Formats: sequence, C-alpha cells, structure tokens
Amino acid sequence: MTNAYDAIILGAGPAGLTAGIYLARAKKKVVIIDEGIAGGQMILSHTVANYPGVLEATGAGIARTMVKQAKSFGCEVVTQSRLLKIDLGSLQKTVDVEFEGTYSAPVVIIATGGIPRSLGLETEAKFKGHGISYCATCDGEFFTGREIVAVGGGNSALEEAVSLSRYASKVTVIHEFDHFQAQPWIVADAEANPKIEFLMNQKIEAFAGDEKLEGVVSVDKDSGQRVTTKAEGCFVFIGYTPATQAFEGILKLNGRKEIVTDENLATSIPGVFAAGDSRAKKYRQITTAVADGTVAALSAIEYLDKGSRIPQIKLAASAG
Ligand SMILES: Cc1cc2nc3c(=O)[nH]c(=O)nc-3n(C[C@H](O)[C@H](O)[C@H](O)COP(=O)(O)OP(=O)(O)OC[C@H]3O[C@@H](n4cnc5c(N)ncnc54)[C@H](O)[C@@H]3O)c2cc1C
Repeated sequence: MTNAYDAIILGAGPAGLTAGIYLARAKKKVVIIDEGIAGGQMILSHTVANYPGVLEATGAGIARTMVKQAKSFGCEVVTQSRLLKIDLGSLQKTVDVEFEGTYSAPVVIIATGGIPRSLGLETEAKFKGHGISYCATCDGEFFTGREIVAVGGGNSALEEAVSLSRYASKVTVIHEFDHFQAQPWIVADAEANPKIEFLMNQKIEAFAGDEKLEGVVSVDKDSGQRVTTKAEGCFVFIGYTPATQAFEGILKLNGRKEIVTDENLATSIPGVFAAGDSRAKKYRQITTAVADGTVAALSAIEYLDKGSRIPQIKLAASAG
C-alpha cells in the first residue's frame, strides 16, 4: 500500500523538523522519516548555548520541543525506519522504508545530516563502545573520576572536552595540527580549564589495552617521538561524513559527497530539495540547519502550489 503525501522529509534533525513545521503550517500533508531517533546530531550535544531565544539547554531538550512543535501542526514523524529504496525519477517520487511500506509525494526534502567521522584504525573498532565513544552526552558520565582523551581541534572537540571535564579527572586533547580550528573563545575556554591538557601535532596510531581501553598511542609528526597517553575513555570528535550514500548516482553530489543545491535549496532533480548538514555548505550549526529547513520548505511550498496546476502532480488531500 502506498501512503500519499504532499512532501516526504528524510531526516528528523533540526533541518528536517523545521521543514516539517513550515510545510504542515502551510496545510501540506507531510511525513518526516528518520532511520534513527528524532533530533539528529542535536541529541549528541550536551549543552546548546548558541541557539537564539534559548539561554542554555540540552540538545535533547531542544530536539524534544521541535518534535512536539512539528507534531502540533499535524506533521507525522516516523522513526527507526530504514530507507530501503528511493525513486526520484518521476514527478511523483516514492520512498520505501522498512516496516512502514511505500510513501509517495511530489516533493522530497533530504535532511539526512551526517555521522561523526571515525579515525579508521583497527584498534578503534575493537574498543568502540568499550572505551571509545563519539558522544560525550551519552557516555561522559561513565568516565567519572577517570582520565580520558578527546581527539580533535574543532569547535565540537573543544566544547565537548570542556563538557567532559565535568566528569573526568583529566582530559587530554590530542590534535593532529599545532593549532586549533575552533573559534578563539572556545579555545580560550578549554585552555582556561585546569582539568584539560593538550597534546598537539600528533598522529594517533593505535588504542592500547586488553579488554578495556588503557591508552592512546600517538606519534609527534615532526620528531617521530611515540607517546602513550593514559586513558580509560577516548572521545573522537573529528568531523562528520554526510549521510548521502542513498543518493549517490541519483542526485548531484560534490567531491565530499555533499548534495549540491542552488540558493533556494533545489537539487539537481525538480521537486527534490536538500537542507542542513547533508548539503554542500561551509557552516554547520543548528541555526544554519534550521534556516535551511525554512528555505527548503518555502521552496517546496512554492513548487507544490505551482504543481497543483500541473495535472501530473498528484497532491495529497491536504490537512486542515
Ligand atoms: C557533539 C556535537 C555537538 C554539537 N553542538 C552544537 C551546538 O552547541 N550548537 C550548534 O548550533 N550546533 C551544534 N552541533 C552541530 C549541529 O548539531 C548540526 O549542525 C545539526 O544537527 C545538523 O542538522 P541536520 O538536521 O542537518 O542533520 P542531523 O542533525 O545530522 O540530522 C539528520 C537526521 O537524519 C537521519 N538520517 C540519516 N540518514 C538517513 C536516511 N538515509 N534516511 C532517513 N533518515 C536518515 C539521522 O538519523 C538524523 O536523525 C553539534 C554537533 C555535534 C556532533
């Protein structure tokens, strides 16, 4: 059985949820489908202090409010449903998802974001979930009173190192360059923290330990000196990979596998829009994802309203 909608949104992060709010408020029949739980990367963020209008909140708290708001306007949110097949080749696009069947709509908004990047080391796989984590909010508490390592030198790495210092007795930040890419005030916060130490210009070679993680082995890129930093936990914050595999060979992607859009967030296929971290852009924040969700939804609404005058586009019996 096919479920007919005006718009299908893939991804229930801030971009997808915002797009859902705008479309549902415009009385379009809209479903947001996520392969995981709603909230996206926001739920990995312990404290969000840069979302205007919210003095300070957990990422999970903001996510919960966004989901509630989207649902309050009639937006359906389907979670834990893996995308099986997508056909964007005709005016009426179809999306097959695990457990739920086939959805069809003239508009698809891709808001699949990204996933944290791993170092790709053999020993990393061994300790994943047994000392190595990519989520301070989820796992930080398990390392209360322990010495840990945080890998990376961008905003997320240093912010999360500060957040982890609430639990850990010591946090060593290991970074591959001799300078940070994070904003100066974020670097200043980390440097002022008495529990945080820094090991710069390092290439991480391996994770040491028998059953549990005991240390992080790295080499100084100039001197070649090898050092093992004692660590019962290691948090890796080295960027992300856009979740666009499902669209390879279908939509135009750039060399980093990000979806290419125009300024109205239209992709290479009419009726398909992309919003948030999955598309090619420089700055990736909740605010930029939310802004993208707005633009994609407004572009989609215009496309749908024009499309209602084109007989081949079948609009769903819209809500309200
Ligand atoms: C640790 C950490 C801390 C951060 N802190 C902040 C902060 O303090 N302030 C700030 O502004 N930003 C912060 N960010 C960045 C911010 O969270 C992201 O830029 C933002 O969440 C991107 O939103 P998005 O909707 O584009 O994608 P995401 O948040 O990545 O959401 C994408 C969703 O799509 C789903 N998905 C993926 N593939 C598929 C598929 N094939 N089918 C269906 N669903 C799919 C995923 O499960 C996910 O729920 C942080 C990020 C991290 C990792």
